[in-house]
Amino acid sequence: MDLELITIGTELLLGFTVDTNSAELARILASHGIRVVRRTSVPDSEHAIRDAVHEALRRTGTVITVGGLGPTKDDITKEAVAALFDGPLAFDQEVWEDILSRYRRLGRTPAGSNRSQAMIPRGATVLPNQWGTAPGLWLEGPPGRVVMLPGVPYEMRKLAEREVGPRLARLVATPAPIVSHVLRTAGIAESTLADRLGDVDEAIHPLTLAFLPQTAGVDVRLTSWDAPLEEAKRRLDDAAQEIRRRAGAHCYGEGATDLAAVVIERLERAGLSVAVAESCTGGLLAGRLTSVRGSSAAFMGGVVAYHNRVKTQALDVAEDVIAGHGAVSEAVALAMVRGVQARFGVEAALSVTGIAGPEGGSEEKPVGTVWIGIAVREEETALHRVYHGSRWQVRERAVAGALYELLARLPS
Ligand code: ATP
Ligand code: MG
Repeated sequence: MDLELITIGTELLLGFTVDTNSAELARILASHGIRVVRRTSVPDSEHAIRDAVHEALRRTGTVITVGGLGPTKDDITKEAVAALFDGPLAFDQEVWEDILSRYRRLGRTPAGSNRSQAMIPRGATVLPNQWGTAPGLWLEGPPGRVVMLPGVPYEMRKLAEREVGPRLARLVATPAPIVSHVLRTAGIAESTLADRLGDVDEAIHPLTLAFLPQTAGVDVRLTSWDAPLEEAKRRLDDAAQEIRRRAGAHCYGEGATDLAAVVIERLERAGLSVAVAESCTGGLLAGRLTSVRGSSAAFMGGVVAYHNRVKTQALDVAEDVIAGHGAVSEAVALAMVRGVQARFGVEAALSVTGIAGPEGGSEEKPVGTVWIGIAVREEETALHRVYHGSRWQVRERAVAGALYELLARLPS
């Protein structure tokens, strides 16, 4: 089933309120196999609401509106929709009793304006709202089907989960939930990943594939649109396996898996401990690793060696190496990683030294230049990277790059 969403509220168009309701509602509906094909936001204006609902009904026949059901003057959704259905609003005693008993429970008396919330378009089904005063309304007639939900996010979500999703799902002949599966990659650019995956679109048909680049890696989302749940899961598993095969080690996990957590787990499994030496990331790498619960199983500690004096005093980086190659160099990254490995007595170590910007770049070493040092037992490497973006993005990318490069060198 396809439908359109209309969110109502001048505050949405002014940008004072971010329209989180649309996103949340779309996710709930997708889990029931109902597809949102268009979203519209309109101000608290009766004709804007009426026109938007009218046009959307002409296209899909089913519309959900969110917002404007409250007791205040700007809440006019019911009037606008009722006008399309040729049904005037009528006072509903049962809804009024519900509102009264809700206020009684809270030890309060309703304001006069609350009576307007008991005015219901003729013929509408009331979707009881035990989380607030404005009930949801379901109206069907010659113009189509309109479901009206309150705008308060918590109430909207409860009504969508408990009432609207299940009721709409019952109208669909063979329920086919829209199910997604996310694979996470690191250490590879979106375009390179796309090349690697090649004609995978054809191999996974009728599933669809989307690339979702993030600051620190590219997620790949697989979606099943039209299969029953069991079949959808099977297809998604098969497709995920195919993607993993093509992406190789770059694919480090699924769903919301955290790269740092995978690194800690892999270190722990191999019985290795790790320490870090950070210049331009200033502790972010240690922060990422220690944000993983149970990280003490593998993480020993780190040094923020921002000033060159700390590089020499705390990590034994020779002064003439810094003078000869510069602090952002292969030689210094290697000396830092060796220094921290020896000082902390760990099997694995990482170092990061770079130019996060916005100042400090040169022709030879532009902003974003980062050297990453990796040591696993006697094996050591330094890798040169140039990350683009803001200071924050360069640092995020350097952290992810370091984690990925260590992961790639750990026993699987
Ligand atoms: P109520 O019965 O509480 O008055 P209502 O249906 O009239 O509900 P609104 O007055 O439109 O809802 O909005 C209530 C609150 O929810 C406001 O704070 C508003 O900013 C917020 N809100 C409305 N629409 C959205 C949306 N699409 N996404 C997130 N928040 C929203
Ligand atoms: Mg409003």
